[in-house]
Amino acid sequence: MKSYGEDVFSEKAILKHMPKSVATKLIATMREGKPLDPSIADEVAHGMKDWAIENGATHFTHWFQPMTGGTAEKHDAFLEPSGPAQAVQRFYGKNLIGGETDASSFPSGGLRSTFEARGYTAWDPTSPAFIKRHENGATLCIPTAFCAYTGAALDMKTPLLRSIQAVSKATERLMKKFKKPKAHVSITLGAEQEYFLIDRSFYLKRPDLLQTGRTVFGAAPAKHQQLDDHYFGAIRPRIIKFMTEVEERLWKLGIPAKTRHNEVAPAQFELAPMFEDINLAVDHNMLIMEVLRQTAEANGLVCLLHEKPFEGVNGSGKHCNWSIAYGGRNLLSPGDNPRDNAIFLTFLSAIIRAVDLHSDLLRMSTAGAGNDHRLGGNEAPPAIISIFLGDELTAVMKEIETGHAEKKTGRTAMKIGVDTMPPIPRDATDRNRTSPFAFTGNKFEFRTPGSSQNCAMSQMVLNTIVAESIDAICDKLDAAGGDFNEELQKLLQRLIRKHKRILFSGDGYGREWPKEAEARGLPNLRNTSEAIEPLKSAANVALFSRYGVLSEGEMASRHEIAAEDYRSRVLIEGKVSLEIARSMIRPVVADEFSRLATAIGRASRDGLKVGIAGLRALSLKLGAGLDDLHVKCERVEKAVAKEQPAAILREMASLRKTVDKLEGLVDDGKWPLPKYREMLFIY
Ligand code: ADP
Ligand code: MG
Repeated sequence: MKSYGEDVFSEKAILKHMPKSVATKLIATMREGKPLDPSIADEVAHGMKDWAIENGATHFTHWFQPMTGGTAEKHDAFLEPSGPAQAVQRFYGKNLIGGETDASSFPSGGLRSTFEARGYTAWDPTSPAFIKRHENGATLCIPTAFCAYTGAALDMKTPLLRSIQAVSKATERLMKKFKKPKAHVSITLGAEQEYFLIDRSFYLKRPDLLQTGRTVFGAAPAKHQQLDDHYFGAIRPRIIKFMTEVEERLWKLGIPAKTRHNEVAPAQFELAPMFEDINLAVDHNMLIMEVLRQTAEANGLVCLLHEKPFEGVNGSGKHCNWSIAYGGRNLLSPGDNPRDNAIFLTFLSAIIRAVDLHSDLLRMSTAGAGNDHRLGGNEAPPAIISIFLGDELTAVMKEIETGHAEKKTGRTAMKIGVDTMPPIPRDATDRNRTSPFAFTGNKFEFRTPGSSQNCAMSQMVLNTIVAESIDAICDKLDAAGGDFNEELQKLLQRLIRKHKRILFSGDGYGREWPKEAEARGLPNLRNTSEAIEPLKSAANVALFSRYGVLSEGEMASRHEIAAEDYRSRVLIEGKVSLEIARSMIRPVVADEFSRLATAIGRASRDGLKVGIAGLRALSLKLGAGLDDLHVKCERVEKAVAKEQPAAILREMASLRKTVDKLEGLVDDGKWPLPKYREMLFIY
């Protein structure tokens, strides 16, 4: 594939565009994630600029991920006047390494004092620069972190980078106990991206989709996903054209888009790239979302990344497949010798402990107005976090817990570090799709994150809590001091006994599960308001401070931003509902009603014997609907005035019932909104 990575300032491009000695230093910097040697910065910038200009770029930008959940860029031309009516193109080392930008309009949650409005961007050399193309040229994008004057993180990337360090360090510490030589730790992420595509002409007629990303009205169509005929179905020509264009752009950006398929809901699809180093994978996921949106637009489609654009049909997630590799070997892959198995089981136990102790934080990391509609629906993992291990591994856990292996030959001892484990198959049939956190053979798949979310947040939390767990295990082993294998075995046994309540292989969608989870003491944080509270707990503040991932102030700011984002989004939805109900739905219903009333009057005057009963019945229904509409709009209005998200959502849902009922009564030709049966099936 010749064009793969051609829009990336790759090692190949680096070697071609700067002196060998500079290139070698830069490549080492990028591989090790170390700061750039300032003495070569100008030469690096010069080479990067030459490469970018060769590829049509006129501008550069620091590309970062503010706490809005999206990405940000501000372009600067390379242009520098060199005399009257003369200019050259320049790019300096200092422009590459850092930037200063007005941060006052990015959310800071109180981290940036009003007199210090500047924000600072700093190059992240572990994510290579790339080029974004547009119709008239291109822009050189330099992935950066974004922080305040005080160094406080104003973005999603900085804490992620810190958490990678934390978990890498803890991993090195534990691997040393297994007498493994020092090696590079790599945290890997493969983020599966789900999305909907609808025809742009429908989208433009839906103010709710335009303003909120989801439909606040719309009756369920007779046929939606009951027949399971969309999932993995043949991909329609218009869609495959879109998909191939997406892939072409992604491949040029060095993003390893690998699989594409129809998802469960009509008009729903998925794209999954091959896993990569987590920091790069997060950047790439942000680009994937952008490319999906832009390519859809170019094809007369709209890509909906909202977690629940359509009520009653499946929502969209972003399944985050996560693992740890040490010197290139996946530590979550069960080994075929006792020593490797012991390592595998220790990491597995660390993760089980982490998720059990901090399931509230994992839930927090996926909170948001959009995802609330998805979690707890009967198609997405519930808001309760639990772990699915699969039959074989559950059996192994049981063996460790009891200290006995049940073999065909009878009961035998199971000794960690001495015995080999039974093989754990990577079998696709052994999948529990209802689990929020599932072991899938050689990685964990965290399914709670929402399709529109920046997964840096959830991955940062996961890295940090696993780092803490690994360290806790190391501390215990340090304190023990006896025979290593025996101590380890005792420790894992204790850990499993203590934390096995988080393991659940049953139906996560079932009605019984919330009750059972409650009995087990597992938190069930149903909505964003509840889910973001863990950011404020003293224990969590201590945890994130200890690992230098988030300071108390940074956590408080994230809480404030999440709360504000939630409040604003719900408020917008409330207002949009009202506007549509009053200015689009009501006039149509009122018209229809008065038309009927006139017809009934005329028919009775003319002494018609038939038809009047039918007209009356319909007019009664429409009239009642009209009254309902009035009352319910008033209620939404009141809730909106009070700015209470819970009340707004409740009243919106009630108003929706009335509107959706009216949809089935009013003349199809007059209904002002494209219907589900159109949007989900005509594309
Ligand atoms: P599925 O879950 O549909 O069976 P795969 O198991 O092939 O599909 O992988 C789903 C995602 O998990 C892909 O993005 C894949 O690259 C990623 N993945 C596979 N192995 C790892 C790993 N060791 N670490 C992180 N992600 C991984
Ligand atoms: Mg999967």
